[in-house]
Amino acid sequence: MIKVENLRYAYDNGRVALDGVNLEIADGEFLAVIGTNGSGKSTLAKHFNALLKPTAGKVYVDGLDTSAEKNLWRVRETVGMVFQNPDNEIVAAIVEDDVAFGPENLGIEPAEIRRRVDLALETVGMTGYRNFSPSKLSGGQKQRIAIAGAVAMRTRVIVFDEPTAMLDPQGRREVLATIKNLHAQGLTVILITHFMDEAAAAQRVAVMEAGRILKAGTPREIFSDVAEMKRLGLDVPAAVELAERLRRRGVRLPADILTAQELAAVLKGK
Ligand code: ADP
Ligand code: MG
Repeated sequence: MIKVENLRYAYDNGRVALDGVNLEIADGEFLAVIGTNGSGKSTLAKHFNALLKPTAGKVYVDGLDTSAEKNLWRVRETVGMVFQNPDNEIVAAIVEDDVAFGPENLGIEPAEIRRRVDLALETVGMTGYRNFSPSKLSGGQKQRIAIAGAVAMRTRVIVFDEPTAMLDPQGRREVLATIKNLHAQGLTVILITHFMDEAAAAQRVAVMEAGRILKAGTPREIFSDVAEMKRLGLDVPAAVELAERLRRRGVRLPADILTAQELAAVLKGK
């Protein structure tokens, strides 16, 4: 479990990026974090595996205080990160070497590394590309290789900071499917995104504004208040938006439609 208590973080230039964040993330949960640019999402993400240490307040990973130097190793063994740009994360000239890079640096024996690489590539659906050069891959495929690199580290939690921001729609679908698959396999997933259809796939959504968590709830709860989301400068999932437009034109629809499937089912019955 991850527990964030009254977390405050100020950068060296004095900029207060987090201003009293409280949050608990359960084992096996799929949490999405949304919020406008500059609301503090990336700063929060970097606290989950101690890339940043609180200015005040606490972050605990499985009860371990992330600000204690002695806990650093175990925190990083538990929580992995995947960032926006796979080009910045891919280090090797061959896919399988790239996925092996992290475990090799942990000094894991070669047979075990091979097992991990095989399984990680299978998990992200990239087994057929193991001998490819990453430069030959699409953005979505590259990001899946970066994810395989995180999977090969065997962390129980993976934090994704806008992993689809640089991808085309096809790549976004591939990466979201991979993330859902990891969650289905029991990993704890924290997904920072500005694509609301991705946030709708999570079990819970936390909305950040100005360094705080404004509210958290199920996607259905969070996206049902379309006016508030707009006021915050945020979108809603495509089906929520469409349902809202239809309501304005007098179509009577349930208040909490979230997905295209639900909207289609209701309209079919009319
Ligand atoms: P988000 O990921 O939601 O866009 P960030 O966590 O990146 O937000 O940024 C939160 C705030 O901290 C913003 O005001 C941003 O300008 C500031 N900030 C981010 N990184 C730095 C940094 N390295 N130095 C100073 N200020 C920063
Ligand atoms: Mg960010």
